[in-house]
Amino acid sequence: MTACLFDLDGVLTQTALVHNAAWKQTFDAFLQAWSTQHGQPFVPFDTGADYHRYVDGRQRADGVRTFLASRGITLPEGTPDDGPDAETVNGIGNRKNLLVLQKIQEGAVQVYPGSVDYLHAVKDAALRRAVVSASANCKDVLEAAKISELLEVRVDGVVARAEHLPGKPAPDTFLHGAKLLGVPPENCAVFEDALAGVEAGRAGGFGIVIGVDRVGQADALREHGADIVVQDLAELLAR
Ligand SMILES: [Mg+2]
Repeated sequence: MTACLFDLDGVLTQTALVHNAAWKQTFDAFLQAWSTQHGQPFVPFDTGADYHRYVDGRQRADGVRTFLASRGITLPEGTPDDGPDAETVNGIGNRKNLLVLQKIQEGAVQVYPGSVDYLHAVKDAALRRAVVSASANCKDVLEAAKISELLEVRVDGVVARAEHLPGKPAPDTFLHGAKLLGVPPENCAVFEDALAGVEAGRAGGFGIVIGVDRVGQADALREHGADIVVQDLAELLAR
């Protein structure tokens, strides 16, 4: 391996909790109103199963569409510029993003210390390093977490939109990261905590897919494409 492609949320930073909380707040408000309007029982967003199956690792609009489909709800797509009040897939995504930005500004971004140690170790070993995240806030999060300078290339939600790259579980964003580093996929290691993310790693034909299990879903990570599973990147330093 000559390069490492890191997911951000849940691999380098502990922002998965921030996202999960923002999704729950957004979806529960939406579902509550929907159930009232349609005379259906209110079934809240499940921060376990719903989060991992339908939204984690996906681009914002993909997460909204996929989760709502699981509840038999279809909304108009709208556009990425929709306001947070728009009753569209993009509007709901933007509503969630406002909450995330608010939480980031409140100082909710924590790194995983084992991941920072690992980043330093791979840099010292002269391995190439990219962050590949569905997040449109990736740049702000890296800066807030003070790890920007440890990564040479950033492929995030902003880049994906500009380059028309489909999000995970499609492998395109990881492949783009490898291309920007000038390293063939078979020489890259992918580090992912999301089921959609390890699927993307498998689909892209990367040298190795390392599942990072923060929530006790090691078996599911293996089923979806992880070659090995660790609970923290520090485990890889000890080998
Ligand atoms: Mg993640």
